[in-house]
Amino acid sequence: MSKVFLIDTNFKPLNPIHPARARQLLRSKKAAVFRKFPFTLILKERLPDVEVEPLRLKIDPGAKTTGFALVNDSTGEVVFAAELQHRGFKIRDALTSRRQLRRSRRNRKTRYRAPRFNNRKRREKWISPSLQSRVDNIITWVKRLQKFAFISAISQELVRFDTQLMQNSEVSGVEYQQGTLAGYETRQYLLEKWGRKCAYCGVEHVPLQIEHIQARAKGGSNRISNLTLSCEKCNLKKGTKDVKEFLKKDPKKLEAIIKQAKKPLADAAAVNTTRFTLLATLKATGLEVETGSGGLTQFNRVQQNLDKTHWIDAACVGKSTPILKFKGVKPLLITAKGYGTRQMCGTNKYGFPTRHRSNKQIHFGFQTGDIVKAIVTKGKKIGVYIGRIATRSTGSFNVSTKAGLVQGISYKDCKVIHHKDGYAYAN
Ligand SMILES: [Zn+2]
Repeated sequence: MSKVFLIDTNFKPLNPIHPARARQLLRSKKAAVFRKFPFTLILKERLPDVEVEPLRLKIDPGAKTTGFALVNDSTGEVVFAAELQHRGFKIRDALTSRRQLRRSRRNRKTRYRAPRFNNRKRREKWISPSLQSRVDNIITWVKRLQKFAFISAISQELVRFDTQLMQNSEVSGVEYQQGTLAGYETRQYLLEKWGRKCAYCGVEHVPLQIEHIQARAKGGSNRISNLTLSCEKCNLKKGTKDVKEFLKKDPKKLEAIIKQAKKPLADAAAVNTTRFTLLATLKATGLEVETGSGGLTQFNRVQQNLDKTHWIDAACVGKSTPILKFKGVKPLLITAKGYGTRQMCGTNKYGFPTRHRSNKQIHFGFQTGDIVKAIVTKGKKIGVYIGRIATRSTGSFNVSTKAGLVQGISYKDCKVIHHKDGYAYAN
């Protein structure tokens, strides 16, 4: 069961509680709802002290979606899980359209002027706004969760493959089985490097075996640069033959294989600027940060026979992963929405101004991004709607509910259940 966060009268996080206990506290009026997403209660009175157990926040950062899991290391219980959808391309598109608009405006009927001075300087460690927003989204949530739960450590997936582990381990015959981590990572790495097909005949979707390019019997090494993947047929055919002899009739393929084999590890290591920037930022929180490779995450997940989702992957990050227990955990689905636009003049697709926005953000006490519960008792739209609203100065709002967009809901029927915080939520 996903647990409910609980904070004491001084806003200090306590142990997350079972939903049944939360209902009990609410019924007896000993606690009140502090926040809807993630669901958090605040105590109204002091309860007898219990020791607060430390939790580990585990993060699997992705390009589109980042998984979060709060895990109790000593019991293996997953207390809370979430999947955060980033804005990524939306930011890029908005910046591109703004740039084009400004450029066309500047270039209209103006003579060329040389720039007067160069004030276009990027600060050190600059990353593009769409990437920066991913880092910022994650940090926002780390800080938010820190307010509601006692987090003592963080685990983050940093790289796809642990190249260190593969370079240093003398992989012997036994280790090619998926049983050990080194063997597992080696296999995953080779699948990626050789495009998941037989290096010799190119056949796909068949079981592939790890193959020495220069045969062991002929002095070939166990290093990763001497390994490839082949189907069983080719593997048997090649036997202990030297690769040059085996591909005598196909010098083009031979050259390609040797070239591909020599490609350095760093190429495929997917050095991801976002992840390293994130690591530096996480370390700045002062918490202990553990990092793990994607291979390790997958190894942990497969060992425990778990499904692949973003939040389960997050729970499997790092060496510290215990045997996980998460019966009934439902991830909170979070979507980054931003805080709206500051553009005062809307244009059509040709850049022609068509609409003007007032600088008033709050209409009848509501603003776009608030999550409301609307109870409509008369008219065509009778019913109860819960969702994020888009406000209009007329007082007729749009509510995006789970079932879709509902237009024309009067402000009189709405009640805010969660104030705008830059994100939309679903369970
Ligand atoms: Zn083959």
